[in-house]
Amino acid sequence: MERAASPPTWKSPIASAVVTFVALLTPLFFFWIFKRVRNMQNGNGNPFPFMELPPELRDMVYENLLEDPYYPPPPPCAKHHGSPLNWMLPGRWSSGSAEQQKGRGHGKKRSNWIFLANKQIYSEYMDIVCKKTTFHLTISPHNYTAPTAPTTENKKIWNISAEMLKQLRKCDIKLVTTSNMLGVNDPRTMDPEDWVLARQMREELKEVENVQELNLHVKAIGDPLWNPLWVWYHASQSLKTMGSTSTPSSTTPPGPKLNRITFSLDMWSPGENYLERDPENKEQWAWWCMKGHCVGPDTGAELTVREFCAKLYVECRTCRPELDSDDEEEEEE
Ligand SMILES: [Zn+2]
Repeated sequence: MERAASPPTWKSPIASAVVTFVALLTPLFFFWIFKRVRNMQNGNGNPFPFMELPPELRDMVYENLLEDPYYPPPPPCAKHHGSPLNWMLPGRWSSGSAEQQKGRGHGKKRSNWIFLANKQIYSEYMDIVCKKTTFHLTISPHNYTAPTAPTTENKKIWNISAEMLKQLRKCDIKLVTTSNMLGVNDPRTMDPEDWVLARQMREELKEVENVQELNLHVKAIGDPLWNPLWVWYHASQSLKTMGSTSTPSSTTPPGPKLNRITFSLDMWSPGENYLERDPENKEQWAWWCMKGHCVGPDTGAELTVREFCAKLYVECRTCRPELDSDDEEEEEE
């Protein structure tokens, strides 16, 4: 008890001076250590001789940096609030889905800096980007408004260089379409050939020469006056002929050939069949169920909206074999 209560006393003034000195020296010592570690991390100041690596090794480094390019680029930070009415906000029609936004770290490009290194790295990296990534091109009310007069020059939808378009191998086009974007008052009287947006797409994609897979996804934005079927119908009828000149007199470039056209709504839908070229039928268009079974050939440019609707929702006999037996029963009766 006595010992605990007694205050600490120093044996001599020398001891207390040493303690004070050590206390003053400790922060200086730690600062010196910190400086040494920093210097070691920075190396001796010489850059790594990256350009002296063999090209195959440089390619391996580039491949670690690859990111799918998005046109237009996604917004820097997409904030998603949990309201069920969010789909009504035009902001939600943006180029990427929530998953894509997540995957891309809210649209922050991690590998853009490499383009700034030098011309050789720029061209080497660009070559890998074009060969190994999927380009995502979006058209939505954000970057397209239908021209008010037929003669007005519309501004470019995507800002991509011709050089890049020439080289790209895989490309997904997302068409987020409102009825306004068809540019007509009555979709029933519209001729798919006359759609200004489809012509502009052919024009802007005319440089695409080496593409191996080009897919189109048509998402129809709900409208109280229009059936979304019209948007799907006109989009697929206008664009499935890309890659071929529909009329010999047409001045519009044919553009690249599409491989697949899929359809969706901005709300729940029963699941639509999709169009894809059939390798067993000379790459002609055919209709496929959601599970990838062929449900019948496409009839081409002459398809009416009624026939289109029937193809879009025709039941798959492979997924529902009972339909075949129903037919047989009817025949027997
Ligand atoms: Zn099926």
